[in-house]
Amino acid sequence: MSELRDLYQEVILDHSKRPRNFRVIDDASHSAKGHNPLCGDRLSLTLKVEDDRIADAAFQGDGCAISKASASIMTDAIKGHSVAEARQLFGTMHDMLTGKGEVELPEEFDKLAVFGGVRDYPVRVKCATLPWHTMVAALDGAAQPAKTE
Ligand code: ZN
Repeated sequence: MSELRDLYQEVILDHSKRPRNFRVIDDASHSAKGHNPLCGDRLSLTLKVEDDRIADAAFQGDGCAISKASASIMTDAIKGHSVAEARQLFGTMHDMLTGKGEVELPEEFDKLAVFGGVRDYPVRVKCATLPWHTMVAALDGAAQPAKTE
């Protein structure tokens, strides 16, 4: 188990040092900003949704290793999936991070399991969930102009 933990830490460290999708989508269809005052994490998420599918996802921002790694892995994970699948994944991640029993991650999303250990650190849970909350805010805000909060 501790070896697994080490591996998970390595993945998180790698994604926080070299975040994937760290950019702005110029012709984004959805966007939202997220802020976790508890830790000071800030991120700005842009999505390009085409035919109800997330064609592209990117983020920029500044925050702790957990929040950056979570945004990096999330943007990778949701790309190519439908909006409904992304929303469902938010629910799964939320349950996993807040420790609501055992959570079964679909095989294609097994990378997200690296955040399973975060629930043991309640202060860090919001860092990991921030990108997911921001994604839902972006998807919900489609009909309105992007808000800054
Ligand atoms: Zn944080």
